[in-house]
Amino acid sequence: MKRLFLSAVALLCILPTQAANPEEIRYGNYPTPRREIFLPKVNGYNVYKADLHIHSIYSDGHVTPDGRVTEAWYDGLDIIAMTEHLESRKREQEYLNFLKGYNGGTPKTAKNWWVYKVGPDEDGILADLNVATQAAVKQAAAYDMTLIPGIEITREPVEFGHFNLLFLKDANLIFDRDPLLALRNAREQGALIIHNHPGWSRNTNAKNEFHQKIYGEGLIDGVEVANSLTFYPNMIDRCLDENLFIASSTDVHGTTADYYGAHGLRRNMTLILAKDKSLESVREALEQRRTMGYCAGQISGDEALLKALFEASVKIELQSVDKRKKQRYYVITNTSSFDYTLYREKASGNWTLPAMSSIRVNFPQKMDLKVTVLNMWYGADKHPVVKFK
Ligand SMILES: [Zn+2]
Ligand SMILES: [Zn+2]
Repeated sequence: MKRLFLSAVALLCILPTQAANPEEIRYGNYPTPRREIFLPKVNGYNVYKADLHIHSIYSDGHVTPDGRVTEAWYDGLDIIAMTEHLESRKREQEYLNFLKGYNGGTPKTAKNWWVYKVGPDEDGILADLNVATQAAVKQAAAYDMTLIPGIEITREPVEFGHFNLLFLKDANLIFDRDPLLALRNAREQGALIIHNHPGWSRNTNAKNEFHQKIYGEGLIDGVEVANSLTFYPNMIDRCLDENLFIASSTDVHGTTADYYGAHGLRRNMTLILAKDKSLESVREALEQRRTMGYCAGQISGDEALLKALFEASVKIELQSVDKRKKQRYYVITNTSSFDYTLYREKASGNWTLPAMSSIRVNFPQKMDLKVTVLNMWYGADKHPVVKFK
């Protein structure tokens, strides 16, 4: 009887949309599922999934800020930062054309929208650089997504580079013709600063004179070890050697569906180990360097954190023993959404341990239950070795 009642309720829920127009048959799967990323707690902290580098139509992206929130939610994220280019907003002329009626039908001419080399004239930057974050606030609240206000300093890449400023109070007070002073302005507002894509448009990731100066002054808190689908393994060494947090960001301008989804990939994310996802807790986690990076299946971080994530995700159980072959057979089970690539000494090939799956493997008798996790990185060529207990 109870089941009958539930079925009737289910039918009632479906009927109105079909009955509204009897000539239409509606296909599709509504509501759309969020693509969850299941990760266990690590060292007592929740592991939040964040993208700390996102563009919208308010600089040179193709998506609105509220669209960015929705996209990130369906991608399984918990936290995003809006980080428009400070010195480049190529859509300004389109907006002025669109709004020409507000100016008596004559479109104004955009100016000072591309000032990464020369700086603006005496009129300064005329756009309100806080608008992109403000435009995402309502949607972030509706989707319970943490929204970090930010901006990207966008300077000539060989000489200076790009820097994300997070937890900004007023993005309009950051610009200075001298990028060093712009970074100091950000620091004065209490911003955390990420050195973005250190190798982009350069032929090395190494620090130049400007970088020596800003790192030396303590103006850098984190480094992107991955940006889009580019991975910079030696930047993991820099982060760990200099106590900076690891970030892995999409820097998305188009959609994550076309950039990642079309290739069957998850988007890049910075994994943030925090007690909750409030701005205060997220900031505390970044300050304490409790982050890992995810890019195209590669996970980077401090060795102990990587091992803790792996050990919380993966369990091993003895299944059987073949005394004649001198082999023990184990089932290794991965309850997380990340795949792992494992190397066991003397095995004929690497083992793929897919997300939410088990694999049956053999260990010769007397061999330690030890694997190297090849898609985890704690340095340019360093992969954690995990010993199962
Ligand atoms: Zn950039
Ligand atoms: Zn960017």
